[in-house]
Formats: sequence, structure tokens, C-alpha cells
Amino acid sequence: MGFFDRFKSKPEPAAGECMAAQAEPAERREIPAAEADPTSGEDAAAASAASEGLLARFKRGLQRTSQLLNTDIRDLFKQEGRLVDDDFLRDLFALLIRTDMGTNPANSICEQVQTEHRARVVRMEDILQIIQAKLLELLAQPEQPIAFAESGPTVIMVVGVNGSGKTTSIAKLARLFRDQGKRVILGAGDTFRAAAVEQLTVWADRVGVELVKGEAGGDPASVAHRTVALALDSGAEVCIVDTAGRLQTQANLMNQLSKIRRVIGKLIPAAPHEVLLVLDATAGQNGISQAKGFSDAAGCTGIVLAKLDGTAKGGVVIPIRQQFNIPVKYVGIGEKAEDLALFNPGEFVRALFADAGIPPR
Ligand code: GDP
Ligand code: MG
Repeated sequence: MGFFDRFKSKPEPAAGECMAAQAEPAERREIPAAEADPTSGEDAAAASAASEGLLARFKRGLQRTSQLLNTDIRDLFKQEGRLVDDDFLRDLFALLIRTDMGTNPANSICEQVQTEHRARVVRMEDILQIIQAKLLELLAQPEQPIAFAESGPTVIMVVGVNGSGKTTSIAKLARLFRDQGKRVILGAGDTFRAAAVEQLTVWADRVGVELVKGEAGGDPASVAHRTVALALDSGAEVCIVDTAGRLQTQANLMNQLSKIRRVIGKLIPAAPHEVLLVLDATAGQNGISQAKGFSDAAGCTGIVLAKLDGTAKGGVVIPIRQQFNIPVKYVGIGEKAEDLALFNPGEFVRALFADAGIPPR
């Protein structure tokens, strides 16, 4: 058994542990209305962020992963390069694994380094180029913005486990569409927690879009129905329906999602046009595997990968691309309304390595 085969034969982390942790966050801070919007009082910062290019925003958001890949790899090198031997390959492998890219991609990078440079002294640039090229190959997908309806309102449902970033991502999407000149209506379909409705209310005010609310503890399908009906009546272009967090194993809650879909579909047969699954990047690879089942059960059409800024595990986008047969559409790179970016693999990889100043080969 070869060096990397030994790594390969190590079992992947058990799926689900982290999902459970994610489902029941240690503490759900209820957000008082006054502080629910992190943009308040930061107008200058917001203005400068808005003028920041996508690459710069990606760079800022990916700082922690980028640091792992650039600074920490630099630390593997002595002044004039390093001999590619088992020690080096083991160190490189360990470092790549810390980005949560998964064992297979990390192996494949190390094997390429081994094939090209074994027993030679390499420069850091050689290694970074191999990593970049491999990431681009693994992530390849066209940008996939929202598939808008040809006529009438586009209905987007947003689903996922508790605390993954659904409500915040809805605010970000609402802002994006509003900036495109579209009329947006939000549905506060997380009737499970009063604070969730309050949180979306504050965001709707701040972003300047309409909101349909239900009673606390009310039927989310009825909120969804009223939201879509209002969108139809008022000629809104987009409506986004929030949902309570749930797990695939909670049969009653999964049935509730199906009911919401059915109710929406009665008003607009092609709707929902998108069902976006919000994943929490900080949950890393463990949280991802079980979400796969969720995605299939809920008929998801795309992923929003939230909280990429909060983790050095940005490599997790690779197993996500590999395990889900739906595209990563957007990534969340901060807590503010503008901290959302259309996911573009080229931009993503460029941002990760921008500071190293090494073009991909
Ligand atoms: P929900 O329960 O799925 O609706 O999750 P929320 O939208 O309420 O988000 C949970 C927490 O994650 C909140 O404190 C958000 O501010 C935070 N959050 C959401 N998206 C991001 C992101 O892209 N970056 C960071 N740093 N925090 C985020
Ligand atoms: Mg929420």
C-alpha cells in the first residue's frame, strides 16, 4: 500500500455528527430589533464595500482559508525551496486537509506533486500552481444565477437546518434583486420562532422590500400562499419564502416543506422556480454529507454556501461540488446585506491565491 493509499484507506469522518450540532446550535441568540441589522451605523463601511470589486470582496471573505493555503504553505518551505520527500508530502497533505477539501482532492494534489517533482527541490510557487490548477479542475461549473420565470413572479424557497444562514441569505438576495430594479416580496415562513419573523422584518425594512407575515406558530404554507398571491396581485418580480430550520429525519417537517411547495404550485404551476439549500461553511465537511439527503428530499435546485468568511475550511466547496448534483449558486462572505457573491470558481480560486501573486498555469 503506497503512502497516499494509506491516507485514502482512512475512513471519512462520520457523516452527521456535525449536522446534529448544526441542527441544535449551542445558543441561538435572539436578535433585538435594534441590533438585528449589522449594517446600521456602518454606512461609510457599507459604501466602501459596495464600491469594492467582487475579487476584493471574495478575498476579504476568504481570508482565513487563503491564509491557510498561502502563509501556512510558505511555512513548509525553507529559504530556497524544499525537497519533495515523504515528509514534505505528509505536511502538504495535512495542510490541505485542514481546508476541508476532502481526502481525495488532497491526495490527488499530493500525487501530482509527487509525479512532477519527486526527489527534487521545489519552490512554493510550483506547489501553489499545482493546487490552483487542481482546484479549478475540481470546481469547474458555469456561474448559475437564479433561473427567473419568463413571466410573472419568480418564487424562491429557502431551506436548510437551523442557524445555517437562511434568513440572512434571504436579506442578501432581496437586496441583490432590488438593486437590479426588481420588486421583491419576502414571506416570513419560519413561523416556528417569533424571533425569526422579527429578524426578517428588520431586514425587510432595512433592504426596503415588502414582507408577508403569519401569526407566530401559524401555518407556514398559509404564509407562503399569501406571499405568492400578493406577488401575483401586485406584479412583483421575485418572492422569497423563508422556512424554519429542519433536518431530513424530521418527517413531519419535511412533509411541511412538501405542503409549502404544493400550495405555491397551485398558484403558479412552475413554482417554486428555485429551492435554495443554505449550507453553513463553518460546519465543514461533516455537515455536508447529510445535507445531501436533505437536498434530494426537498427538491433543491441550488446551494447558497453561507459563512465562508468565518472559516478556514473554504475548501469544503470542493466536496460540495462533488457530492451534490446541484450547483453552488451564491456564497455568503459576511453578515451584511451586501456580503453575497455569485459563485464563480475562477474568481474563487483567484481570490484564494491573490496574495501569493501566482497566476494559475
Ligand atoms: P437561519 O437560522 O438559517 O435563518 O440563520 P440566520 O440567517 O439567522 O443566521 C445565523 C447566524 O449566522 C446569524 O448570526 C448570521 O448573522 C450569521 N450569518 C449568516 N450568513 C453569514 C455569512 O455569510 N457570514 C457570517 N460571518 N455570518 C453569517
Ligand atoms: Mg431563519
